[in-house]
Amino acid sequence: SLSDRLGGVFDRLRGRGALTEADVRTAMREVRVALLEADVALPVARDFVERATERAIGQDVLRSVTPGQQVVKIVHDTLVETLGADESALTLDVTPPAIVMMVGLQGSGKTTTTAKIAKRLKGREGKKILMASLDVNRPAAQEQLATLGVQTEVATLPIVPGQQPVDIARRALQAAKLQGFDVLMLDTAGRLHVDQALMDEMKAVAEVARPQEILLVVDSLTGQDAVNVARNFSDQVPLTGVVLTRMDGDARGGAALSMRAVTGKPIKFAGTGEKLDALEAFHPERVAGRILGMGDVVSLVERAAETIQQEDAERMAAKLAKGQFDMNDLRSQLAQMRRMGGLGALAGMMPGMKGAQNALQQAGGDKMLIRMDAMIGSMTPKERAKPELLNAKRKIRVAKGSGTTVQEVNKLLKMHQEMSTAMKKIKKMGGVKGMLSMLG
Ligand code: GDP
Ligand code: MG
Repeated sequence: SLSDRLGGVFDRLRGRGALTEADVRTAMREVRVALLEADVALPVARDFVERATERAIGQDVLRSVTPGQQVVKIVHDTLVETLGADESALTLDVTPPAIVMMVGLQGSGKTTTTAKIAKRLKGREGKKILMASLDVNRPAAQEQLATLGVQTEVATLPIVPGQQPVDIARRALQAAKLQGFDVLMLDTAGRLHVDQALMDEMKAVAEVARPQEILLVVDSLTGQDAVNVARNFSDQVPLTGVVLTRMDGDARGGAALSMRAVTGKPIKFAGTGEKLDALEAFHPERVAGRILGMGDVVSLVERAAETIQQEDAERMAAKLAKGQFDMNDLRSQLAQMRRMGGLGALAGMMPGMKGAQNALQQAGGDKMLIRMDAMIGSMTPKERAKPELLNAKRKIRVAKGSGTTVQEVNKLLKMHQEMSTAMKKIKKMGGVKGMLSMLG
């Protein structure tokens, strides 16, 4: 697996301080191969690796895992983020009927997925649904949907032989309005390849129906071609989401990343079989796990990070018990904030930290975290332990040494003050235990 391969590359780096650019680039070559093996499209893999690389460089190496494992975790997290950890629900809260239009290549699974989604909305949300097939190209395509309607006990629009797609769409819309349906699902004709006549037809239907959702249905086995498919469709109609079918047959999952990258739209469902209940919400973690084939690495790295935070927190607690909070502590707090995703993540994470957070925000936000670290780096060990020592002359020296200004040094001292006060408050409230659990 990828983590084994990276383990070999990185074993010699154990115990080093932070991931260097060269280390990360070595690892990312392996990551790129893993992505391509998982069938992620080449340009997508390239962009992705670039982003993950930027993120990994400079991160502290955790003690109890290998740097390789840590890189895998960073890649995993970036993958999950890119695949979209966000909500993937359909937007149906409009004046009924809400309209969902399915588009995609022939054989991708549009008709099956139309019935699957209808069944799900009916079963879980009690929606009244009408399905209509606009596929006049494939023989018996309309009958196929009618049969699925019977199986799922969902209404289908009566078939009028010879009627053209735009007219069927109009008729469906009218029927849905008149008969009080909540949702109208339009199943369109497939395309074997990019065929402008069919694309125009699809656009005309979209203009008439004005759907809330236009879902691109893609066979996850499409592999490298998925990118072209996605680009073609998303150039022609405003997609709102993607459904990946045949996820049951795809052990690799790479198409998901390609689709997301090219369309910029969330993957709303995954088809996992031919049966009509084989439709799942999309799980980015599972797909990221498949792509990287990395087993337990993620939880291993998470545990290691927790252990270190726990150790930090315990050390802090011991100091607090003695009423101490010096610049070294502030520095490790700043580093932790950066690890946890900057200032935004700090809000609400520690009780009594609002003041310190405001001070930091006023001081210039996340960029300031780095400058503060440089200022503390320019202090002598004595000054770090006893910030009161910093008189005007020493402040000038620290400012010069760190490429900052005396005003900035003053802001740092103010921030330290705020944090010590907060720490003392926590101590008074006897809340160290509570704080520790929040840090963990
Ligand atoms: P359309 O041409 O896009 O409408 O595709 P269909 O809905 O007719 O599906 C084509 C074939 O793919 C059918 O045999 C379906 O049963 C099958 N199919 C659709 N979705 C899935 C899926 O998620 N997994 C599997 N294994 N088969 C699927
Ligand atoms: Mg079909």
